[in-house]
Amino acid sequence: MHLYNRFNKDELKQRLMGEVFKRKTISFYRYVSIQDPLEFRNQLYRAWSALDCLGRIYVAREGINAQMSVPEHQLDRFLKQLDEVPELKQMPIKYAIEDDGKSFYKLTIKVRPKIVADGLDDNAFDVSNVGKHLTATEFHDLVDDPDTLLIDMRNHYESEIGHFKGAICPEADTFREEIEMVVHDFQDQKERKILLYCTGGIRCEKASAYLRHHGFSDVNQLHGGIIEYAQQVKRLNLESKFVGKNFVFDERLGETVSGEVIAHCHQCGRKCDSHTNCANNLCHILFIQCEECAREFDGCCTNECQTVLHASEEDRLLFVQTFERKFGNRKSFRKSIDNKLRIDSQVAKKE
Ligand SMILES: [Zn+2]
Ligand SMILES: [Zn+2]
Repeated sequence: MHLYNRFNKDELKQRLMGEVFKRKTISFYRYVSIQDPLEFRNQLYRAWSALDCLGRIYVAREGINAQMSVPEHQLDRFLKQLDEVPELKQMPIKYAIEDDGKSFYKLTIKVRPKIVADGLDDNAFDVSNVGKHLTATEFHDLVDDPDTLLIDMRNHYESEIGHFKGAICPEADTFREEIEMVVHDFQDQKERKILLYCTGGIRCEKASAYLRHHGFSDVNQLHGGIIEYAQQVKRLNLESKFVGKNFVFDERLGETVSGEVIAHCHQCGRKCDSHTNCANNLCHILFIQCEECAREFDGCCTNECQTVLHASEEDRLLFVQTFERKFGNRKSFRKSIDNKLRIDSQVAKKE
């Protein structure tokens, strides 16, 4: 039996579209000591490919972080198997809010040094000294208090399409950058009540421990993140304080929580919250593009990328180097699109 996927992307996507059964998109994580991550990984790969599971899973000595889709008819077996693995026993599973079952088209299980790339030295602070976990209801009680600092622990492109009302959303490109920004920006407010949230809760585990290590005294976090929050809001019939879409790291790129569209197309400024990757693979930048602009630019972020997209294979090779230089810093590139947009709209207003 093969321990890695052997098919190309198009074949896999076609196969997924042709499936006659339904899939559930789920996620889970756990910080737990895994003695032999590679052996553990291989066992999971055998078991999960036998069940036709798809997804992206990271295994490390420190634990597991999984985003995956499981055929509905295999879900019970899958959960039972999880329970039979001591490290994965009684795993809290989060179910996607908006799910077409097309979240992943292949099964990838990677052994990594860490289950979340946080760039932190775990020996420098007590990673188990995490903040207080809150349910959706507890979260609502605290969030209405004007003394509470509500902080979005995700990257800027995630909070751009959806966030909690009144949240501070730092302009960070990476989780590492985000954590450092929060510690720095609020260093004179260490006594305040802090409320953190992220997609599924895993980033807040590290962030809360890190903030406590830096002397923040009252650190709280949304248990299970936005995904679990949205489920609880639905179940308990609460009013969602989250507006917009929850960005997710799979083929869907986002799931609707409140139905409001709070972001704008980076090209024309129309209301839109659909992320896409630039069709020019040399660029591949993640940005927001409306359907009209997608047609006009053939799915590219700029006319330049459109030119490259239609260039001959020979010409494309010439472009490779320029692109590496130009798109080194993605945030500044996105800002340059945004700035252009602002200038354009100001001009339009004056006219
Ligand atoms: Zn547009
Ligand atoms: Zn591009």
